[in-house]
Parts: sequence; C-alpha cells; structure tokens
Amino acid sequence: MLEMKHKFNANIPIAKNMRIIIGLLVVLIVLLIFGIVRDGDTLITHKQANTLYVEDKITKVIIDGDFIRLKTEADSYKIYKGAINKTAFFQKYPVEVIEDNSYLLDIFYFLFLMLGFGFLYRMMQQNKKQQEEREQKMIKVEEKELGSNDTVEALRSKVTFADVAGIHDVKEELEEIIDFLKEPKKYRDLDIRLPKGVLLVGPPGVGKTLISKAVAGEANVPFFYQSGASFVHIYVGMGAKRVSELFQKAKEMAPSIIFIDEIDAVGKSRGEFRNDEREATLNQLLTEMDGFEESEGVIIIGATNKIEMLDEALLRAGRFDRRIHISLPDLPDRIKILELYLKNKPNMVNIEEVAHMTVGFNAAALDTLTNEAALHAMRLKGTMIETSDFEAVKDKVLLGKRKLLSFSKEEREIQAIYQGAKALVATWLDVDFDKISIVNTPFLTQEQEILSKSELLARIKVYLAGSLATQKRYKEQFTNASTDIAQAKALISKVIYEYAMADDFIVTPQQEEVLLRESVAEVKTLLETLDGALTEVKGHILSHETIKPDECRDILREIF
Ligand code: ADP
Repeated sequence: MLEMKHKFNANIPIAKNMRIIIGLLVVLIVLLIFGIVRDGDTLITHKQANTLYVEDKITKVIIDGDFIRLKTEADSYKIYKGAINKTAFFQKYPVEVIEDNSYLLDIFYFLFLMLGFGFLYRMMQQNKKQQEEREQKMIKVEEKELGSNDTVEALRSKVTFADVAGIHDVKEELEEIIDFLKEPKKYRDLDIRLPKGVLLVGPPGVGKTLISKAVAGEANVPFFYQSGASFVHIYVGMGAKRVSELFQKAKEMAPSIIFIDEIDAVGKSRGEFRNDEREATLNQLLTEMDGFEESEGVIIIGATNKIEMLDEALLRAGRFDRRIHISLPDLPDRIKILELYLKNKPNMVNIEEVAHMTVGFNAAALDTLTNEAALHAMRLKGTMIETSDFEAVKDKVLLGKRKLLSFSKEEREIQAIYQGAKALVATWLDVDFDKISIVNTPFLTQEQEILSKSELLARIKVYLAGSLATQKRYKEQFTNASTDIAQAKALISKVIYEYAMADDFIVTPQQEEVLLRESVAEVKTLLETLDGALTEVKGHILSHETIKPDECRDILREIF
C-alpha cells in the first residue's frame, strides 16, 4: 500500500487532534456546569429533616416530583418524599407545589449529550473521510496505468523486507543504501559516496519492484515509480521533459528513490535503428544522473531483464554502478516464498513438496498458484488447503497467461548435467563462483580488476563445459546452451582483440578459431576425467537444485 508524501499533510493530524480535544473539553465543562446548576440542594436524611423541623428553621416546603425540598433562611435541602412524615411538614409550613418538569430537564440533558456525541461523531467521520480521500488518492496514483500517468508523483511505500521472502543476499546488498537514505548526513560528513544508481537485473516476477518498494519502505523515503516504456510511449518530446520533472521532484524531496522499471525501454543500446524520442530521453536521463551529487540523497533503481541490451553509457562509472542479479527462486527461496503466502491461510500443505514441484516458477507464479490452490480447496471442501490442491491446479497455472519456465523430468536431467558440468569444471579450474543452480542463472564470478590470461581461459572453458557435457551424454545439442556459447565466444574475442593476449601480441582472425578449438579439446578431455564426479554432481543438483564450490570440492575429494 502506498501513501502520499507525509510531509505534505503533516500538519493536518495535529489540527484535527486539537479540534477533537477542544470539543471534548467543551462538552465536559458544559456537562459539569449543567450538573451543578441543575440541582444545588443538599440531600438530607430523615433524621436531619426532623432536626430542622424540631428547631423550626424551615421557611417553606416545596413538593417537587419525588422530592420534598425544605427551604431555610440560609440553605436549601431536599429529601425523598417517602422518607418524612409529609403531613406534619405540610401542616406546619407553607407549601408550594412545582410542576414536575424534571423530565424536561432530563430531555434537555439528553439532547445536550446527543449533541456532544453527534459533534464528536461528525468529527470522527470527517477525519475518516479525509483519511479515505487521501488513501483513495494514493490508490489512484498506484492504480494509474503506469504507462500513461501524466504527472510525476511521490508515493510512500509501506512494504518492508518482511514482505520479501528469500533473496537474502539481495537484501543484504541493499542494506547500505537504506542506511544511506535514512541518514545521508552521516555519509556526507565522512565524505563517503554511494552509487547513484543500482541496476536490478533479473527475469520478470522475481521481485525487482517489490524489493525497491521495500527499500523505500525500510528507509521511509518517497518512492517515484516510472516505467521505461512510459517515457518513450508518450508524445514526442515528452519523454525528456518527464525525466527532468522526475529528477526535479525527487531532488526536492530527497532523500528519495526513483525506480525505473524496464529501463531497457529507454536505455536500449542505440544500435542501427535510431529512435529520436528514445535517444532524447536517454540523453536526458544521462544528463540528470551526471548532474547531481551522490550526496544529494537520491538513489535511482533501474530494473531490467536484458542487461545486454542496455546502452553502454548507462553502465558507465557514476551511473548504474552497482548491479544486483536476481534469479528465479531456488528451492530454499521457493520454500520461504510459499511459507509467506500460506502464512495466513489455514493449511496442511507440505511446503517442501510443493517447492519441489515448482522448479522454474517465479514468485508471482507461486502467488497465483497458492491462490488457485486455496480456491480449489474452498470449492471442494471449504476447509484446509492441502498439498493435493496445489497438485490439482499446477497445470492450470502453468497453462495460464504467463508463460513459465518449468522443466519436465527429462529437461531437469539435461539441465542438471549441463549446470553440473559448469560447476565441476569451474571448481577444478579454480574459477570462483557463488553457486550454480538448475534454473538458468547467470554464471557470476568474483569481480576482479586484473585477470590473467589463464583465468580468462578457465572462464571460457566453464562456459563451454555445459554444452560439451550434454553432447557427450546425449549425443545431441540443446538450446539451453546458447547464452553460454555466446559468452564463451565474446570472451575469446576479448582475449584476442581487446587484451591482445596472443603470445607475440600480433592479432589475426585465425587466433580466435584456434583458441576456441583448443578450449573445446581441453574441456572434452577434462570431462572424461570428471565423468564419475559429474554423475554425483548431477544427483546433488537434482535433489538440491543448486551446488556450491564447497560441495563440488567434497565430491571431487571423494572420487580422487
Ligand atoms: P518484477 O519487478 O521482478 O517483475 P515484482 O516485484 O513485480 O517482480 O513481483 C511480482 C509479484 O510477485 C508481486 O506480487 C510480488 O509481491 C511477488 N513477489 C516477487 N518476489 C517476491 C518475494 N521475494 N517474496 C514475496 N513476494 C514476491
């Protein structure tokens, strides 16, 4: 849920509270005065009344409803009618009867009370209405078709890290940014600069938007949402204007977050096909990003699925310096996501089992699946959700609108060999990596400034390993290798042309081919040696979905 910038209406709740307090005080005072004025006579007992009678102090007796009022020179008393011998009093003193109009007073009293409550109720209603209006406004902002909203508005995010299941390392990476947004001064004082831009790279539905909202929510700063497409799809010339407006507002409200979804729509590498509108927008974005200091407290988070499509300029130093990859959730993360989604639903679900059958599902699909399962349970028996409900609706979700990557048993085997070979070769050749998972995640190695030629060649071999391993086992080639092969070739080309790593620094086109052939031959030999280990690794990946360098090392140690 998003809320308008608090700063704007920070004075409203105070004014409203004051009004309520003053209203309450007025009602209280009036009631007190009323109580006093209404009846000031002292209630006395039978004995006291008799004393007054005997001492002959009474000047007048008044019959007033259920009471007899006794007036003396100085005072005025009252006593319940039945408590005294009325006849004796009536005979001795002058008697006056007043109409029993106490009910009028009661009505008046009652009306007054109603008025007080009415007043309070109205104020509360008004309060509520204003609150609702504000929320309505926020919802409108949120609901506005993101591609067509015509103004730039700050939203306030109530999402926190507790709403984001799994992706622990992503959260960790963003902690520092949150701290910076909370206390930019601390960083400014120590002259520490943080990146202006963070690029979240990953397939759709893995929580890029959610985590950005959570950063805003955790840091309690305004959140500006824009989709890249909205910049370029509006009228000609408007994209650049919108970008500058966006930065202007974000700076005014700093510390703040600008989130640009699908940034590739703006930052697509310019390539052959020119699009003036997009280019103008991109240039504006670059200018804006260069035009403010890191310490100003505006962080730009860009989300993209296709980092390779992005214009180099966006990735240059001082712009989107930090990149965070989010992949499809692995088994432990799927368990955490399902736990979150099932938290408030009565269930007897074996979450681990469901996590196992949902390889390739993103968080959004798990959400849909959980919802469908709950509906299925309700329709069928109306009580607990069970594992069987998930099984029953899984295919429906898979065939639904979203095209999901979900492996069949055979595909899982192929993918386990493919990824397992990469993990093994990387471990064998000392290429450091975080973990390799059954789903197609980018193979991420440690960032290093200076790489040796042998380190580069080792990486090339890792990229080739998967495809060569599946070829060896299945005598067949598969499409899952395409990205890695492209990476291998790109790296070979860099080794030859960019780094000029030929022995004599002389570059010829044949060198690329030679290097590729040599690498392929070496990986093939290596895979012969590692065949037994690969079977082990495959088993590990099939049951755990991921494998880490340590686990590969353990397997290798057992075999060799
Ligand atoms: P993206 O921006 O990567 O396309 P979103 O952030 O829009 O993905 O997420 C899509 C849906 O999945 C949202 O409903 C979001 O709440 C849910 N979701 C995504 N990741 C997670 C997560 N890690 N934990 C809980 N829900 C998630």
